[in-house]
Amino acid sequence: MPSSKLRIPYDSPLFIIFAVVTAVWYSNSAGFHTFPRLTHHGEDALGSYIGQEHPHLRRTFTTGRCLVLRSRDVLLDPPTPMISQELEIQILGWTRTPFAISGGGHALNPGFSSTTGIHVSMSGFDTLEWHKDENTIDIGAGLRWDHVFDYLNPEGYTVVGGRVRGVGVAGFILGGGLSFKTNQLGLTIDTLKSCEVVLPNGTFVRASHDENPDLFFGLKGGFNNFGIVTKFTLGVYPQTDIWGGTVILAEKDIGGAHDAVVKFADTVTDPKATLNIIYEYAEGELNAIVILFYDAPSPPPGLFDELLSIPNGKVTAASMSFATLLSAGQPRNTPRRIQDVAPVQKYTPKLLDSIANETKHWGSFLEKNHSGHFFDYVVEVFLPTYYSHGTESAWPPSRDPASVHYPVNIAFAWYEKAHDQAVWDALKASVAKLRADAEAEGQRIENAELYPNLVIEGTPLERMYGKNLPRLRALRDVYDPERVMDLTGGWRF
Ligand SMILES: Cc1cc2nc3c(=O)[nH]c(=O)nc-3n(C[C@H](O)[C@H](O)[C@H](O)COP(=O)(O)OP(=O)(O)OC[C@H]3O[C@@H](n4cnc5c(N)ncnc54)[C@H](O)[C@@H]3O)c2cc1C
Repeated sequence: MPSSKLRIPYDSPLFIIFAVVTAVWYSNSAGFHTFPRLTHHGEDALGSYIGQEHPHLRRTFTTGRCLVLRSRDVLLDPPTPMISQELEIQILGWTRTPFAISGGGHALNPGFSSTTGIHVSMSGFDTLEWHKDENTIDIGAGLRWDHVFDYLNPEGYTVVGGRVRGVGVAGFILGGGLSFKTNQLGLTIDTLKSCEVVLPNGTFVRASHDENPDLFFGLKGGFNNFGIVTKFTLGVYPQTDIWGGTVILAEKDIGGAHDAVVKFADTVTDPKATLNIIYEYAEGELNAIVILFYDAPSPPPGLFDELLSIPNGKVTAASMSFATLLSAGQPRNTPRRIQDVAPVQKYTPKLLDSIANETKHWGSFLEKNHSGHFFDYVVEVFLPTYYSHGTESAWPPSRDPASVHYPVNIAFAWYEKAHDQAVWDALKASVAKLRADAEAEGQRIENAELYPNLVIEGTPLERMYGKNLPRLRALRDVYDPERVMDLTGGWRF
């Protein structure tokens, strides 16, 4: 066992970073799941690398005392060939300053996975290990869903994961996870078997239904409040080709689709079927894209007929591999983007009209006046049973059928910083309008427990975690009594 030369203070973010490195080394080498205080070269030794052309230094940054290292090269004492080759840590600072953990980096809230302090990128945690006998897969916390699907799908298997390429597994899972499989199998956290976590005190633990079940509860929806997750083990499920399609509607035809959409949402019972609609305003035009998905090479006769025959809809539908469908929704790059959620208990033609109107209203206003780029309102249609597949979790705080609602996910993208406040205000106003419209229809959404992966920064924690919040805070006091994780961005218990 390496010997300790210098101890980094317990509450230093660096402590956690080193702990991650060491934990992975132990887990990869000897199969230990706990270890005494980590050992490393220490601050002086690491500091001495700064400014030198150390052969292991992969990149230096021009501002501040920043460097990017491969962990095996610097952090262990003695350096050992046993350290995981895949592990890479980025350190973008060297003080007890705020730090950020990023998985895929897709959180749209400022500072959730970015920082001017120390940046812990999980990108080096990129291994996949499929346990065929157990129908599970270990997924490194730095991977994106594409990696997982590209690995499993050609073999005829899948996980309950993302719906477009590029999104990270870590934040997606730690926030809940809405998937094309959610009607059948639940949220991604409902298929989570275990996690490996480095706690703020440097202890490396597993959390599962049987091991540290309280921590497991907290991680399922609780993001980075309890430490850094290095590995997720998810259930693996068979995957055939799927049937998918889009019906694209120009502005004048959108209203004509709403009866068919509502009828589908009200009557569908087949959990293999899902429906989303993206209302989008961009470059002076409003369009709607109805996205149809069926989890088999072809849907039952008649299931989507009314949607496929919406007047003037441009239909593209085919049987395809799941990976092909995933590629259809490439995320777009925009310098500035925020999102928020309007909760809905039931879609009605009037409410869908209102969503379309909001898209056009704010899209044209912000495009004209505030450097707007594109404006999406994504209507999610799930079965009312979609919360019913899992056991208790940080989010959703209640799985009672009466608590079920659907998120309308609203994302605004624009270019110039000078317009941040105007766009922010517009988004808030639009969410308020849609909530008011739903409430005017008698929908009980005042206490809807909002999906933390999609809501805007500043949303009170009670609005997401509801009755679970006291329990989560008590759990935080157990696992992070020194409040180390308060130095990171994200939802802070
Ligand atoms: C284009 C796009 C499509 C999306 N599609 C869906 C969808 O279909 N379904 C859905 O449910 N959501 C979807 N989302 C939302 C998505 O789930 C969240 O943005 C999610 O947090 C992204 O995960 P990430 O790892 O990429 O994020 P990051 O920004 O890297 O992380 C998000 C949060 O998790 C924390 N975190 C990351 N890694 C770790 C770790 N290893 N340990 C502890 N904490 C960590 C971060 O600190 C941060 O607070 C989508 C978002 C985008 C932008």
